[in-house]
Amino acid sequence: MKPEESKALTSRLEKAALFLLKSDVFRKPDDLARRFGLPVPVVRYWWRESDQEKKPIDQSAVSMKLAKQIRRAHQVLEGWEKAKRYRPECGAQLTNGKRCKNSVAIRPPEGWDRGCLADRCRVHGGLARRIRKKKIDQDE
Ligand SMILES: [Zn+2]
Repeated sequence: MKPEESKALTSRLEKAALFLLKSDVFRKPDDLARRFGLPVPVVRYWWRESDQEKKPIDQSAVSMKLAKQIRRAHQVLEGWEKAKRYRPECGAQLTNGKRCKNSVAIRPPEGWDRGCLADRCRVHGGLARRIRKKKIDQDE
């Protein structure tokens, strides 16, 4: 998975999560994380870094537009399980000329700012702390 795709997926998840938390559909980050199988520290972090302003919606009088937004946010977050299950292949070049078919790694919570999914499997450096670049930094 390309870093920018992983980042885009992560930011879609973050946006949907914050929307549902702000509108108080989910009261706590932990509730939302558990419901959608997201890492709890990640959702807590998203919430902490936001303005944490709750704008509870009146559940008895939700407009069509708002109902749609809420449904959409649920769909985005439900997509995480699918994204997890059907992760792209690593694709690293193997010595036998074939490409690695392992799924790319899911980053640990502290790595999600670089995207939830790595671009390689764990064997091929998907969980490396540094982003692999074509050009290597000289000062290290
Ligand atoms: Zn691999």
